[in-house]
Amino acid sequence: MSTLRVSGLHKQFISAAELLTVLDGIDLEMSAGEDLAIVGPSGSGKSTLLHILGTLDSPTSGTVEVAGVNPFELSPIKLAAFRNRTIGFIFQDHHLMPQLTVAENVLLPAIAQGRPSEKVRQRAQQLIQEVGLAQRELHLPSQLSGGERQRVAIARALLNHPKLVLADEPTGNLDATNTQSVARMLFDLPKREQAMLILVTHSDWLAEQAQRCVRIENRHLVVIR
Ligand code: ADP
Ligand code: MG
Repeated sequence: MSTLRVSGLHKQFISAAELLTVLDGIDLEMSAGEDLAIVGPSGSGKSTLLHILGTLDSPTSGTVEVAGVNPFELSPIKLAAFRNRTIGFIFQDHHLMPQLTVAENVLLPAIAQGRPSEKVRQRAQQLIQEVGLAQRELHLPSQLSGGERQRVAIARALLNHPKLVLADEPTGNLDATNTQSVARMLFDLPKREQAMLILVTHSDWLAEQAQRCVRIENRHLVVIR
């Protein structure tokens, strides 16, 4: 079952002995193959929400269910395995390993589970081809353009057939041409595999490409469409 269910999610941070409420009762549902853009002013809690959905941070209260599992009920070891298997991340500044080639970077999520099988290596090659980097497999990230690096990050995020792909300002550092090619792959590839895509963006153009769009406003989600 490839769904996301968020119910009554609250998040507070304690900073300088003060309680900061960032998210105050967030409800959200998504199904396989859907995509959603999250917009909102800087500091409104977009990354916080994405981190919680990606199980990198936990909610103060409320429930999150990814593919039928409440990840916050898992032990730390099971949670790490669940995250690796179920969730793909794409960040603003790609987070590629500078000393590894394109092919090795794409294989990273599998290397975390041991030596990658031939099947996984073929999957990596196929993804590298699909993001248009077949001729760049042995290049290092420093030898690629910003758009190419972000396409490597997309391929890597998809390696383990994640059910949920999370992208935080994936085109934040790209020019208009690269934004378009990255957007095309972001919206096409997860959908073809029936994954859900949630994308945080400052780009009006990118937000308009998504099926659904919500804004975080005063700690709540407001549906734009
Ligand atoms: P956005 O991604 O929308 O710009 P963030 O989710 O990064 O916003 O941050 C939302 C608010 O939460 C900000 O006021 C930020 O300072 C605060 N915040 C984020 N992470 C922490 C943390 N670990 N500890 C304390 N405050 C935090
Ligand atoms: Mg942010």
